[in-house]
Amino acid sequence: MHKLFVFPWSLAAMLGMTADAHAVLEAVQTHDLNRQVEACTDFYEFANGNWRADNPIPASLQRWSRKLSAHDGNWHRQQSVLEAIAGRKDWRPGSAEQVAGDHYASCMDESAVEAAGAAPLSALMTEIDRARTLADVERSIRRLQDLAVPVAFGSSSAPGYHDPLHFVWTISAGGLGLPDRDFYLKSESRFAEAREKLQAHVARVLTLGGISDAQANAAAIKIVSLEKRLAGASLDSAAAADPVATDHIMTFAQLKTLAPHFDWEAYFDEAKLPRIPLNVAEPKLLQQLDRVLMDTPIATWKAYLQWQLLESASPSLPKRFAQEAFDYKERYLGKRIEAKGRAQSCVESTDASFGDALAQQYVKAYFPPAAKAQVQEIVRNLRIALRERIEAVQWMAPQTKKAALEKLAATDVQVGYPGHWTDYSAVRVRRDAFWNNVAAARRFNVNEDRQQVGKPVSRDFWLPTPTPSSADGYLIVELNKIVLPAGLLQPPFFNPNATDPVNYGAFGIALAHDLTHFIDSLGAANDLKGYPTNWWTDADRMQFEQRSQCVVDQFNGYFIEPGVHHDGRRVLGESIADLAGVHIAYAALQRVMQAHPVPVVDGFTPEQQFFISWGQATGAAMRLEAQRQLVASDPHPAPKFRVIGPLSNSQEFQKAFSCAVSAPMVRPPEKRCQVW
Ligand SMILES: [Zn+2]
Repeated sequence: MHKLFVFPWSLAAMLGMTADAHAVLEAVQTHDLNRQVEACTDFYEFANGNWRADNPIPASLQRWSRKLSAHDGNWHRQQSVLEAIAGRKDWRPGSAEQVAGDHYASCMDESAVEAAGAAPLSALMTEIDRARTLADVERSIRRLQDLAVPVAFGSSSAPGYHDPLHFVWTISAGGLGLPDRDFYLKSESRFAEAREKLQAHVARVLTLGGISDAQANAAAIKIVSLEKRLAGASLDSAAAADPVATDHIMTFAQLKTLAPHFDWEAYFDEAKLPRIPLNVAEPKLLQQLDRVLMDTPIATWKAYLQWQLLESASPSLPKRFAQEAFDYKERYLGKRIEAKGRAQSCVESTDASFGDALAQQYVKAYFPPAAKAQVQEIVRNLRIALRERIEAVQWMAPQTKKAALEKLAATDVQVGYPGHWTDYSAVRVRRDAFWNNVAAARRFNVNEDRQQVGKPVSRDFWLPTPTPSSADGYLIVELNKIVLPAGLLQPPFFNPNATDPVNYGAFGIALAHDLTHFIDSLGAANDLKGYPTNWWTDADRMQFEQRSQCVVDQFNGYFIEPGVHHDGRRVLGESIADLAGVHIAYAALQRVMQAHPVPVVDGFTPEQQFFISWGQATGAAMRLEAQRQLVASDPHPAPKFRVIGPLSNSQEFQKAFSCAVSAPMVRPPEKRCQVW
């Protein structure tokens, strides 16, 4: 179930009209309010009770909100720009329009994809099949890695852990059909079942690729056991995501010693990688790979490589391949119920292949320069308010405060899209060769990634995904950077047609929350250049923890159901950031309104609009089971408590709604928490 999100101003922009920036501004979503409930009694229910009553959680999902609805519907926006450019065939070859439009068209031409079958892969399949020696196998590993098929191991460039200002080549785990090592090694029935399903899936994929049933079944057993041997030497998911556990910088010579039977000379030559220190995230895995290379029959390697190629290409092959991949990966492992339609898959393929080309068109329609300037203005005002708050904080030592202010000034907030677009003019994209386009894009993107190694990380560096037209933002603590893609900057997060209080109450609080992460107990581990170093004093930490206890106690008291309450310690970092976010965004709004007063709209004062906006943007309906899971594992509180938690500590909230001191939404002065 998806809702189409097209807003008046973006429609006007697409039609080449000038939207009137001074039209009546939108304020809070009045129809989402539950006016049967007092704001001072249960603000969560007051702010979005009707929205939740009117918008039941879709059967296939665990939670639902206006934000998720916009997020999940973003592909419709991407689709609308792709449909528009794919409709024309006279774009300049190599232009963003030609590349994105023709790629999308080649994907949408289902009959051509069906007619081609698996033929576009045949040259590579044959090359793999011809292997007679380990050197041949390794050549195929290199060919597949050129195509972003992560066989044997994963590899990519990344900002260095010790030197985040330069890209380092990183070798990690990769090329496994199951999510992590537990699936290969543990005896519990769900893991055993997943292994059986994997084996059956591998056999079916090989059969679809033209290998006889008997051969495919025999090969599948060997492939799963090869993967199991690699998985056995790999880290569990928690350790694999830990920058310290995966920090193993070594020289090229050390790499060769670590896994002497892999031809690293050829690998680095062909990939044009400089022989400078690199990071091997999992040295034990590479040692194991070396053993597996030596003692696994060539025939097993060939089958493994063919299966990985077919698996990786499946979404770009005829429906029988895509369906098999969906049934196993999405339906079985991912618990997804409905398959995506063709159009959504083609939008996603274009985004993954030529993200910047799609995004260039997307921002023309949905994120014009005026919207970008508006967001940047909010960011500037939030920075000022945060700076003033740090200056006023009593508990931080003067030198720590100075460091915090310097770090804040160095924090980079990327708004909408990067400073320069990737130029795809070297890639040949045709309307009638879908897999070839995908392969060309993958080679191009892999090559771009490799070329970064050893070079400085530029100020406007964006991760390859999420792309600028996607609806997912991110924060990189090590780079002192927040990235806000244009696809994220849509209602209810940010609305160029809304009043300032609405934008400061939604986007403003969220961004102020993120900014504080760079200077809080999380950000204390990296300095303003991103180098791992602790710039807090022991006294600062003690003071911070003393003030934190109030928040821990507050959230320990929030119940999901009888007997199930939040663990105040687990949600502490996020709750402190929410609390700070509300104060900072409120202060920033007050400053803005001195110059640009905001009227009462629909009976709500600007201050009331601000708080209601937070309630409406943060509010989400969540199944009880999902809430239980969240309480047990998520560092974020449940949506309800992200709303009432910080607001019940806010005197401004109490004042805005004229709440009695004894109201449930007002914490008594002696229990009121404030860290920042
Ligand atoms: Zn956070």
